[in-house]
Amino acid sequence: MAFWRSKKREETPTPQNDDGGEAVGESVRAEKTPANQSLSGQNEVASGKPTSADAQPVEQKRSVGLFAKMRGALSKTRQTLSTDIRDLFKSEGRLVDDDFLNELFSRLIRTDMGVRSAEVIRDDVAQRLKARVVQMEEVLETITEQTRSMLSQESNAIKYTTEGPTVILVVGVNGSGKTTSIGKLANHLHQSGKRVVLGAGDTFRAAAVEQLTIWAGRIGCEIVTGKPEADPASIAYQTVERAVETNADLAIIDTAGRLQTQTNLMQQLEKIRRVVGKKIENAPHEVLLVLDATAGQNAISQARGFSEAAECSGIVLAKLDGSAKGGVILPIREQFNLPVKFVGLGEGIDDIAEFDAAAFAKALFAQ
Ligand code: GDP
Ligand code: MG
Repeated sequence: MAFWRSKKREETPTPQNDDGGEAVGESVRAEKTPANQSLSGQNEVASGKPTSADAQPVEQKRSVGLFAKMRGALSKTRQTLSTDIRDLFKSEGRLVDDDFLNELFSRLIRTDMGVRSAEVIRDDVAQRLKARVVQMEEVLETITEQTRSMLSQESNAIKYTTEGPTVILVVGVNGSGKTTSIGKLANHLHQSGKRVVLGAGDTFRAAAVEQLTIWAGRIGCEIVTGKPEADPASIAYQTVERAVETNADLAIIDTAGRLQTQTNLMQQLEKIRRVVGKKIENAPHEVLLVLDATAGQNAISQARGFSEAAECSGIVLAKLDGSAKGGVILPIREQFNLPVKFVGLGEGIDDIAEFDAAAFAKALFAQ
């Protein structure tokens, strides 16, 4: 449905020139709205912080809270795995032989981690534990360590520019979680003292502009919106311009959902890149591809298409909480040289975390 609309829009050439000339944007400093306002009509997950942690230092409390959240979000994937892996250990301990390794392999691939990742993990278990009788904990520890090392990456940090606002463009297919991730990310950055301007660049759907405006209101940050059907490149330009004018640290630009195969829409992304690059050298500094973790193997083909066509610099893996296929992160890390920068752990404002390989592996396999 939305793609049909997108197509219709493609047929109408946009009047703006490359520098986003026509002034269609409106900058709004959104009113702060109650933090529990629902954005999707669904109830928000209560944050339920443990009170026993109250006496801990703030940083420590935060990381404990994030780990608990990551563990909660991965519960569906973990259930698939650990009930499966537990099956392998009917009695006390089990001999690690070829049968065991084959069974382990078939269980691992159920998480959508793909054949290659499952082979690497299986072979590592074989190398360390073959011909021994082992307890389940020992196998899980080995798998956790191997997964951590497969997921490790140089840095998940946002690449900030040294001068002027850092520009982040957010791309992906329809419904993958772009707008929600932008809201959560902007809040996360705002909380850490950054000044953020949002750009409502999904002009195909009025609801998308509204959705982002509500997020801006909750966060209390500025948002640039345009008239319906305005040229997204123009909105992007004006968002960056506004960020420069107000000395903001970041401009985060939403875009309409598109398929990597829709040439015209991919060209439109190229235009957005070009236009913001005219305003600030080297912008956009980050192009974040939002992938839906529930899409499993489909997320891989999206990553392939977008990383080639849109020169992405990092991934946000959204909806990890709703997915039993969280293992898909392994082939994504393996096949694309793209760091996973953030993971989406729910629909609430705090349900985003910087990706951490060790915490992820532990949350996935630890009992
Ligand atoms: P967009 O079309 O890519 O902008 O996607 P949206 O941000 O509008 O999200 C589509 C749906 O997915 C909405 O109902 C969101 O609330 C939901 N969503 C987005 N991120 C997450 C997440 O991390 N966890 C869960 N459970 N839902 C999410
Ligand atoms: Mg959206």
